[in-house]
Amino acid sequence: MPLKLVIFDLDGTLLVQGLDFAAIRAEIGLPPVVPILETMEAMEGAARERAFAILDRHEAQAAAQSTLMPGALELLADLRRLGVRTAVLTRNSRTSVEVARRRHGLEFDAAVTRESHRPKPCPDGIRHLMRSFGAAPAETVVVGDYRFDIDAGRAAGVRTIALLAEPKPWAADATWAVGDLAAVGRILAAVAAEPP
Ligand SMILES: [Mg+2]
Repeated sequence: MPLKLVIFDLDGTLLVQGLDFAAIRAEIGLPPVVPILETMEAMEGAARERAFAILDRHEAQAAAQSTLMPGALELLADLRRLGVRTAVLTRNSRTSVEVARRRHGLEFDAAVTRESHRPKPCPDGIRHLMRSFGAAPAETVVVGDYRFDIDAGRAAGVRTIALLAEPKPWAADATWAVGDLAAVGRILAAVAAEPP
């Protein structure tokens, strides 16, 4: 089987979540453009705790109001039938993943969140999942809607699918770029059918 593991981003890939990053930055007191997680990681003490509490609350609310991307449950079920392992890799908290999993009945084999590994674009979470499932880079595909997903996949040496509502310049770095999960499914089925 040339395809053993598919790693999905959560927000904008399996789920539609209304995370308001501008509101999160404003409430924490961050400038408008900085990356939220990386800036918070550099904070200390009570300010850091307060910032993570604000982020966790926004994420849990967004997860509780999230909707499924069309075709998400079907795609996960198709991959399970093919014997392919599935995982979620997100910069969000474990709590928000659990809220979304229960809300939508999402079934995947593993989830890596910011509590356990350095967040994307760092490839640590992808490497951890490949080790967990005994999948080589050539047997692994990462699917996501943001450049950090694609950068993390490339850094781990795996193929990547950019899921985009509209063209983005960074999508040229992805192995494939598509507009919906049905197209993702067709690519993954073709990868699974590649000669070993
Ligand atoms: Mg995303």
